[in-house]
Amino acid sequence: MIDCIFCKIVAGSIPATIVGETERSIAFQDVQPRQPVHILVIPRQHHANVAELANNDPEALVDLMQLGSRIASEQTTGHFRFTFNTGELAGQTVFHAHGHITSNQPVNS
Ligand code: AMP
Ligand code: ZN
Repeated sequence: MIDCIFCKIVAGSIPATIVGETERSIAFQDVQPRQPVHILVIPRQHHANVAELANNDPEALVDLMQLGSRIASEQTTGHFRFTFNTGELAGQTVFHAHGHITSNQPVNS
């Protein structure tokens, strides 16, 4: 998708601090972290939100959840949130599906 910031991260045309990846998904640091751990996990293919991802490519959603869970287990003590803002009025600002992993329990705390 032209003009989608997360498609540009997938393509490598804008930088991100990538912390994990699979064939279908990428995890990277949120540019404005709201917790000591704040990572975004996205499908490589463009879907507007998690509901569309679930309907259109459920295997990609499972892959995203598995990658996110692995990163969370590496970077937190096992206490974390995995959230998907869906729709503008719920706070979604980037319309490429993404899960936020947030935690105030980084692994070295
Ligand atoms: P949401 O409000 O759920 O759509 O979340 C979008 C998230 O993307 C916010 O937490 C932003 O800080 C984050 N974000 C926006 N642009 C970038 C970027 N270029 N690299 C990393 N994170 C970003
Ligand atoms: Zn996109």
